[in-house]
Amino acid sequence: MSAQHVKSANDAKSREDKGTAPARADRFARIGDKHAAAGNHASAASAYGSAADRYKQAGNQAKSDEYRDKAGEHDELSHGSREDQARDDQGRFAKDGGHTTALVARARKRTKRVEFSHDTPAVKQAEAALSKKLAAQLKAIGKHLAAKLSRLAKPTKMSEEGDERDAIESADWAPIAAVVSDELEAVARAGAKQALAKLGIDDEDITSQTFTKAVDWARARAAELVGKSWDDDGELIDNPDAEMAITDTMRDDIREAVADAIEAGDSAAELSDTIEGLSAFSEARADMIARSEVVRSHASGQMTAMRESGVVKQKAWSTAGEDVCDECQDNEDEGPIDIDDDFPSGDDAPIAHPLCRCSVVAYFEPTDDSGAEEEDDSEDE
Ligand SMILES: [Zn+2]
Repeated sequence: MSAQHVKSANDAKSREDKGTAPARADRFARIGDKHAAAGNHASAASAYGSAADRYKQAGNQAKSDEYRDKAGEHDELSHGSREDQARDDQGRFAKDGGHTTALVARARKRTKRVEFSHDTPAVKQAEAALSKKLAAQLKAIGKHLAAKLSRLAKPTKMSEEGDERDAIESADWAPIAAVVSDELEAVARAGAKQALAKLGIDDEDITSQTFTKAVDWARARAAELVGKSWDDDGELIDNPDAEMAITDTMRDDIREAVADAIEAGDSAAELSDTIEGLSAFSEARADMIARSEVVRSHASGQMTAMRESGVVKQKAWSTAGEDVCDECQDNEDEGPIDIDDDFPSGDDAPIAHPLCRCSVVAYFEPTDDSGAEEEDDSEDE
């Protein structure tokens, strides 16, 4: 179900990418030049490949071809330098008889696998803070709507077609988007930071660009959550395309409660109690939303870092815990896929459903001078 939601956030992203594809291509080209100058051919090939993809996306076929060729050249060079190293190793290890093991270990070290995690203090803190704030906001809205809607219970008053909708729309959602935005922006940034560190990226341009995009995504998601988007002046406006908005569920719950109450001949006070007691406004619902949205933004921050890094070619889905649902298991079973592809559930990154704790895995070629963390590839050796 959240497949559509992640898609919608990504549709916005891909619309935006079409506009900025040339800028992104230029940036990847510069990153490639940096790696090439440093003699990191595998990383240069990877970045040039990304530049070629972006130029193609931007409709610049000539540039795309040029960088495709450069990627090929540096790919060759990286194999060449690997062979040189292999020959060196062979000479060195022939003396002590350990050559085969050494060569295999070196080949395996080239592509690294790193798994990102949601088990961090930043995530826990954001979940707890957001759960509490959201519970207070939902409760206030429940009270407001109970007062507004209870008049519909009077049997003498025929409720008009638009009455419920008007009442529901009279609720003020802006405070929810604002508190949610604070927490989600912080956690998206934390996810991006974690991923950049694990990928060994400390380039200032990449880092600031990654943080900007991660935070923008989280801010847009906060508005989408209550069926809105931000206009150019930073004001919330209605967004008919919003996916997975909590307001959709709320509307359905309220309509049902009002219809039932009218049919049962409930008094205004009874209907008011029913609405305030709806699970849509409960602490449990607030907690579920908080946990789901925090992990969603954290994972989105990680994905943003992977995309912006220029070194990640593939990704995989990693399930968490013991009670894994079929949807997430299918995603994991798919194994590594292209970084721009969707998993079988239709999501391009976790989460696949509310309360999903799955994380994403990156396959990348580290820059030789990078501070990429070493411990994560230990299982491959
Ligand atoms: Zn999952």
